[in-house]
Amino acid sequence: MDTRLQTPRGTTDYLPEESYNRRIAEDSFRRTFELWGYQEIRTPTFEFFQVLATGTGAELEDSMFKFQDKSGRLLALRAEMTASIARVVGTQLLNEPKPIRLWYIANMFRYDEPQAGRQREFWQAGVELVGSDKIQADIEVVALMTQALRNICLKDVRVDVGHVGIFKEIMKEARLNADIVNAIRVSIDKKDSEGLEKTLNTEQIDEQTKQILRALLESRGGVEVLDKISSLVDNQKITDIINNLKKVLLELQGFGVSEEFVTVDLGIIRGLDYYTGVVFEAYVPDLGIAIGGGGRYDGLIGDFASFEIPATGFAIGIDRCIMALEKQKFQYPDKVKASVLILPVSKEMNIEVNKIANKLREDGITVEAEISGWSVSKGLSYANKMKIPYVIIVGEEEYRSKAVVVKAMSAEKQDQVKIKELTNFLKEKT
Ligand code: AMP
Repeated sequence: MDTRLQTPRGTTDYLPEESYNRRIAEDSFRRTFELWGYQEIRTPTFEFFQVLATGTGAELEDSMFKFQDKSGRLLALRAEMTASIARVVGTQLLNEPKPIRLWYIANMFRYDEPQAGRQREFWQAGVELVGSDKIQADIEVVALMTQALRNICLKDVRVDVGHVGIFKEIMKEARLNADIVNAIRVSIDKKDSEGLEKTLNTEQIDEQTKQILRALLESRGGVEVLDKISSLVDNQKITDIINNLKKVLLELQGFGVSEEFVTVDLGIIRGLDYYTGVVFEAYVPDLGIAIGGGGRYDGLIGDFASFEIPATGFAIGIDRCIMALEKQKFQYPDKVKASVLILPVSKEMNIEVNKIANKLREDGITVEAEISGWSVSKGLSYANKMKIPYVIIVGEEEYRSKAVVVKAMSAEKQDQVKIKELTNFLKEKT
């Protein structure tokens, strides 16, 4: 394998057309986040491993690209943004008025097995809402994630909403060891009822807890699944959580996220350890994998500061959004190509060509200048291939009378236009 001719597995070159399509989605995310009052934040692509590993759990830690600097310190490429932002808030933004609303668009790195929708370098657009422990903050981020996905023109955006607190509370009461808790967690998260039964049968777990865990694995649906869990447990914390989830469902409607788009799924426990409350994932039916996810993490910032600050947020996978848009046959607007090619008749006119080109660019017209020493006919044939609609030909004779020739490629027609009228002439046409 000649590595000079390839990129590492799980990485991608985005050629101009694809970069343009991605730019459209990114611009839309940026606009949506800013309309909701969020401000941009950028953090380093690599950090000390200890920072990035804070609160993330073994699975994500294992997937990090780790390396040493020359002094032997362990660094890693970021695998997600939340730990980095928690570090920034915990070390630099503690005295800012709360809530703090932050957004980012950045590349992430995970040593996952590459497959459709899973790369080793991928892009996320996300937000963190810091400083509120109120359910309104959870509702805002779920609504914002849905709106951001709708605004990139994805149809039929759905959200699954759960709460890690129910599982944590049940496990606390059951007093099981960490390995068993993890095995149960994985089975519930993957909706693997056989796996769950296996673990439940080998352990000393009381019947009522078993019944609740089975119910959690199956708890997908509307408000009725909340009522079912409610009927099985006698625990004030869980009752409060269920009431809060009911509030989430109700208040999301005010954001145009009606019941038909929201599913309660108490089995979402999500891979990251730092989640403490409402968690959620976004889907579109056309794509079988999650396009975004997030949740509340009230303890993480406290790991970087002397006190705890509640927070919630989400990350959307841009690559998966692009895949979903393709599946939904989204028509991207035409790429803005150069609307003008400017050519000198002879190389003596190069300086004049560049002067005119620069003036047109200042006026907001996209201009490609000829740089290859082509004849006019070669330039015209290039404009034809590249679908550039207008060609300006700068000849000595016309230039002496402060004019140029403008050729409309579609009409096989040309006009002599005064240089000072060129901008208006082209703006009227393009
Ligand atoms: P997570 O923090 O793992 O829930 O990731 C949030 C979102 O990022 C997911 O819903 C995906 O859309 C996206 N994502 C996560 N891992 C990958 C990956 N390896 N390749 C592409 N997108 C990913």
